[in-house]
Formats: sequence, C-alpha cells, structure tokens
Amino acid sequence: MTLINDIYNRAFKTLRVSLLSRCNLSCVYCTMGEDEVKENNLHQHPAPAAILLQQIQQLHSVLNLETIRLTGGEPLLYHELTELIKGIAATGISKIKLTTNGFLLERLAAPMKEAGLQSINVSLDAVDEDLFFLMSKRNHVQKVISGIDAAIAAGLQVKINSVIMKGMNADQVIPLLDVAFERNIPIRFLEIMAMGHLHDSAGNYLFTQEEILERVSRKYTFIKVERAKAATANYWQTTEGHRFGIIANESEPFCHDCNRLRLDSNGNIYGCLSSNHPITLNSGNDEAALISKLQQAMNQKQRLKFTGSNLSMLHIGG
Ligand code: SAM
Repeated sequence: MTLINDIYNRAFKTLRVSLLSRCNLSCVYCTMGEDEVKENNLHQHPAPAAILLQQIQQLHSVLNLETIRLTGGEPLLYHELTELIKGIAATGISKIKLTTNGFLLERLAAPMKEAGLQSINVSLDAVDEDLFFLMSKRNHVQKVISGIDAAIAAGLQVKINSVIMKGMNADQVIPLLDVAFERNIPIRFLEIMAMGHLHDSAGNYLFTQEEILERVSRKYTFIKVERAKAATANYWQTTEGHRFGIIANESEPFCHDCNRLRLDSNGNIYGCLSSNHPITLNSGNDEAALISKLQQAMNQKQRLKFTGSNLSMLHIGG
C-alpha cells in the first residue's frame, strides 16, 4: 500500500461521493432559488452505479479507505441507490454512511439499511413550517421528521445537521435540539461557509459557535466533550446526558487533521472544499497515475482554515 500523505501527516481515509447534483429542495446556502435548481436538474445524467463502483474501488485499492459517505445533490434521488450501497459493502470499506435532506427517507430507510448502510445524517434547518420554507423553499417539514423516525426504526444510526444563519433560523436552535433529544439522537449545528453564491456574502449570515452556545444555554446546561481525531464537530453534553455538536468552520477550523477526499458526479476528485479545481479520474489510469492525482488532491488541502470557494456544495457534495 502506498502512503499518500502530507507534511502534517494527513492521509485520505474518508471518501465523500456526490452521486448527482440534482436536488428536490432549494436551500438558501446551495442555490439562489427554485429556477437554478430546475435548470441544474434538467442537465443531470448521473453516472451508472457500475461506473461509480469502479471509481470507488480504484480509490480504495490505493487508499485503503475506512469510511464512505454518499451525498449530493440529494442522494436519495439516485436511481440505483440500494445496488450501489450493496456494491460498496462488497468492497470491504467498513463504514458506509449517507447525508440526506430526508424528504424521501420514510420509504427508503429500511431498504438502505438492508443493503448495508449503517449511518445517516439528516439535514434539517428548522422545525417551524414557515422557517423550513424560508430555508428550503419546500413545505411539509413533517416529511423529514417522519423520515428521521423511519431511519431510527430501521436501526440506522441517525444524526441531525442544522445550518444556522443569522437573521434566518437562529430561533430554531432550541426547537431543533428538542427534536433530537426527544429521540435520543445527536444533533450538530453548522456555521455557514463561504461557498457557491455565498462566496462573498457568507459573513453577513454567520451565526458563530459562541452565539449558538448562548442560544443552547437558554434552556440547557452543558459541558464540553473531548474532540475525536479528524472529527468535524466539537461536542458538548447536557446534564440530562444528551449530546450536541457544532461544526465551527469559521470559529474553530479543523483542517489540521482532515482526512477527507471528495469524488463528484463527473468523476473528479478534490482534496479540499476550498478548491474548485477538479482532478479528473480516468478508468485507464495506472496505479502510478492515480497516486500522482491523489498527491495533487492532497496538496489542495488548506493548512489553517477553509478559504471559500465559488463551487456550491450542490456540486462538490456536502
Ligand atoms: N441533499 C443532501 C442534504 O441536504 O443533506 C446532501 C447534500 S447537501 C449539499 C449537504 C449539506 O451541506 C446541507 O444540508 C448543509 O448542511 C451543507 N451545506 C451546503 N452548503 C453549505 C454552506 N454554504 N455552509 C454550510 N453548510 C452547507
């Protein structure tokens, strides 16, 4: 096995695969609105599962990956999802996870679990129906909550992820915590990142880790938990024993031990969210060529903090 690492001893152990750039929501941080999503959805021809599996296998053969996370776009819109999960399970990658907006989860949770999925992150930025619409341009937040319940019932490990934006959904911190705590599942709050159309304006919406903690303290008392290596989130535990986390991209960056590699739906790899320079994988690449591309991707990693990118997470994968 060839070791691909950098002078900070970072290595790729987690692969995030964006299955498609299509989505059934129009979240404020990913898109400028419904029209952009419709336009984007028209031009999407997702790769067959056989091609994705070949790319994943190619990367795994060099990197000996520990974790794979399927994302998008919205991964539950991918036509061969359960076949893909089964194929990944057969590669020997031990942890198979997925990130979803949860809209189609009620129906798909059990088949995905049966195919080999272990864990799922559900994005939910508001419990209040009007604020859910403000964040996602969709009604029916209850569909997402029913999806969360179906995933728990299917035996998946479930976490909630909530992006908190100043002037938009900060009042939802406590209601979101309550949804998670009532179900005894962890929740992580995310600081907004300067990506896509928010590249130059994300600062206007930044609701910091400190501000989030102040909101939580209005209802709960908590203590800090030690951070696990390569973790994206800081965690706290309430006196009742519930856990919540904050992914503090701005206030407390975590680039120094990042182990993530990204594969987009066009067969490009990226070593860092801050980079919008795609490195194209080819099925004809021999091992030396693949190693050289992976080293290029490693060189994209930032040392200190995320510096922003005009690529939306809709395309690079959240
Ligand atoms: N559709 C799936 C979902 O909603 O979970 C997966 C893809 S989506 C791009 C994944 C997540 O990326 C979003 O829910 C949000 O949590 C995060 N995200 C996207 N753009 C972001 C930004 N500019 N800042 C912070 N988080 C962002």
